[in-house]
Amino acid sequence: MEDGDNVFGIRGFLIDAPEFGTLRGRQRGAIIVENGRISERGDYDDLRRMQRTKPVRWIDRGPVAIFPGLIDCHTHLPQYSAVARGESELLPWLREHIFPVEREFTGPKARVQAPQFFHELARHGTTTAMVYAAIYEDSCEIGFEAAKESGLRVILGKMMMDIGSYGQLQPKKVLSVSLLESERLCRKWHRAEDGRLEYAFSPRFAVTCSEKLMRSAAEMAARFDAYLQTHLAENREEIEKVHHLYMAAQDYTHVYEKCGLLTPKTMLGHCIHLNPREIAAIAVTQANVAHCPSSNLFLGSGLMKLDQILKAGIMVGLGSDVAAGPELNMWQVMRAAIDVQKARGAYEPNLRALRPSEAFYLGTHGGAHALGKAATIGTLDVGKEADLLVVDLTAVAPYPKDRKLLNELSTEDVLALCIYRGGPHANLETYVRGRCVYQAPNPVQPS
Ligand SMILES: [Zn+2]
Repeated sequence: MEDGDNVFGIRGFLIDAPEFGTLRGRQRGAIIVENGRISERGDYDDLRRMQRTKPVRWIDRGPVAIFPGLIDCHTHLPQYSAVARGESELLPWLREHIFPVEREFTGPKARVQAPQFFHELARHGTTTAMVYAAIYEDSCEIGFEAAKESGLRVILGKMMMDIGSYGQLQPKKVLSVSLLESERLCRKWHRAEDGRLEYAFSPRFAVTCSEKLMRSAAEMAARFDAYLQTHLAENREEIEKVHHLYMAAQDYTHVYEKCGLLTPKTMLGHCIHLNPREIAAIAVTQANVAHCPSSNLFLGSGLMKLDQILKAGIMVGLGSDVAAGPELNMWQVMRAAIDVQKARGAYEPNLRALRPSEAFYLGTHGGAHALGKAATIGTLDVGKEADLLVVDLTAVAPYPKDRKLLNELSTEDVLALCIYRGGPHANLETYVRGRCVYQAPNPVQPS
């Protein structure tokens, strides 16, 4: 582990996406990190030659790409043990595979799994994650302890449900207990570790939450200026259920609107089956969307109309949605985002494809925007906090020993190789605020 407040430089192929559709690359680049922030970026030789008052410790890992840390806007801590399990759609899958593992995510089991979960995030190059815990106070407390230790930037919340919770008999006063515990956790953890940890009030979705619970969650989030996270319009059966539960509402989104759940600090998972009124309502409230394409494919939930959501001006980030998404690898989520739009394009001839640079934007700076953190993270700009991912290009290139081939790769080539072939096997180091939170066990030595 490196100390977060020293000065170091790191060289490599710098790649980031300041805007949707804009890709920026510098092949023989470098950045200098000072007190956890990017203090300089530019050409390696130029930066190396400059005279400085403080000595710079240079890190040279050979042919690498340096990206802003990947941002996962929607995932579930207690579900990771059930990844890739099940063949059914959302509601039966929750009953058969997810509620049983969430029900057990407490005490010693949570203590064993939570640190591994955050280590896995760091190993996959994710530096910021918005996460649901289980319904128990200790599942969230243990989650925060592990997130604190991991060094990652984490927004976490205790799952809130007061209808049919995990299919068990409801304890009496389930609503007041859920609110009390959520408030206690928020008071303790929101903005802890100098703002690296934050709280998200987390009503699961309208199927398992009463109107009173959702309204109270929204009120508390406003009171503490904390985040809100929930699921919206993921699956057709779910939408039918919500329609029967809330007959007075115009549509699913209207249920959340009435409860005050749509705010600029709200992250809405999925948003696949929305009508134009719902999209407009989300845009007006400046609520944000976590697009979870690998999850949507795994559960057969549907193909998100990303173009319509973006056209409305809604901020969109990407989410692994583990365990409905089969892995934490955000490169795979970007790939799925591209594939979903390609699949739609087969039936909607005028639909423009999602480009790799655009998917990458959603997984970095787009996610930062959706979380209200674009001034702090998401690109390699000078002044931003140094959340970085260092990728070994020899681990994604088809012929790792062919240095000529490696040297000829364009910015687009490197990005596409990472999206289609990247993952933990290629990740050398992950940094948050300039502190190394993951280092590959046997980093490749430059030859
Ligand atoms: Zn989810």
